[in-house]
Amino acid sequence: MNSDDQTIQLSVIAPVYNEAPNIEPLVQELLAVLRPIGKRFEIILVDDGSLDDTPKVLRRLKESVPELKVIFFRRNFGQSAAMTAGFDHAKGDIIISMDSDLQNDPRDIPRLIAKIEEGYDLVSGWRKDRKDPFISRRFPSILANMLIGLATGVKLHDYGCSLKAYKKEIADQLLLYGELHRFIPVLADLYGAKIAEVVVNHRPRTKGKSKYGLSRTYRVLLDLLLMLFFQKFATRPLQFYGAWGGALFTLGFLTELYLTYVKFVRGEDIGHRPLLIFGVLLIVTGVILGSIGLLAELVMRTYYETSGRRIYTVKEVLE
Ligand code: UDP
Ligand code: MG
Repeated sequence: MNSDDQTIQLSVIAPVYNEAPNIEPLVQELLAVLRPIGKRFEIILVDDGSLDDTPKVLRRLKESVPELKVIFFRRNFGQSAAMTAGFDHAKGDIIISMDSDLQNDPRDIPRLIAKIEEGYDLVSGWRKDRKDPFISRRFPSILANMLIGLATGVKLHDYGCSLKAYKKEIADQLLLYGELHRFIPVLADLYGAKIAEVVVNHRPRTKGKSKYGLSRTYRVLLDLLLMLFFQKFATRPLQFYGAWGGALFTLGFLTELYLTYVKFVRGEDIGHRPLLIFGVLLIVTGVILGSIGLLAELVMRTYYETSGRRIYTVKEVLE
């Protein structure tokens, strides 16, 4: 680490996976925008195990662009992992994330920075005029955006836009397991970030191939469930499982109580009644849910206490 590292003010990070023809134009466009801003900046490109000429191009570019920093993954870990590596290495107080396929326009960066300097913690791009195929990309994305907004209460038009600006404190909190990069605004909201949205330019992909298809829709739904659980119960899982477990158990218990009454007071046979099995099912399910809640509670505490993470985030301390 040289002494310049401390003074970097702006970091631009982008994941790169098989984008050989796009990298050089991307870096040129970025330099053209970033140099006039007058902040000390770095461009961090994370090669996510590319199989084409990407590594070669990156090494060659590094020789002529001192602001460039390149991280090579050993294999393909996915966009979320690559973005996390970018965040991990970024030194700037302001961090910009974007795609490396030239679909995002670097000329939007100054406006994102201005918004951050207005006091927002996260500024998310909105690809209002998105240049992607309708059936496979835009349509599912419209539905997903509506659903995520309704379900999480974080109101944005476009969660999936990679072009975003972050204050360092917020970026440091993000742990993008799986494909959670699409839920960055929801995650940031969990930490209490102040979020703004800015309309950005979007361009069609002219070189290289898109890495995703329709199949990601289902995974987005699973991730959404996870986010909902996080939003409400990540730090108190027992209250979630306990509430459902307790309700089911009580219902099952009452059912069996009723059948006991039928058997012993009314003297009727109950062996053939579907209600009998239903009640047992409710009791067993209730007990299982309750036990999962206890386990989840232990796991959660182990996580927070061993990782040093807190269940709160502090904005400021006055002493
Ligand atoms: N990407 C990556 N690893 C992957 C898939 C994608 O680093 O496994 C990068 C890719 O190089 C691009 C960005 O993530 O910079 C977005 O990918 P893509 O353009 O294919 O997604 P789309 O714009 O079609 O949603
Ligand atoms: Mg793209």
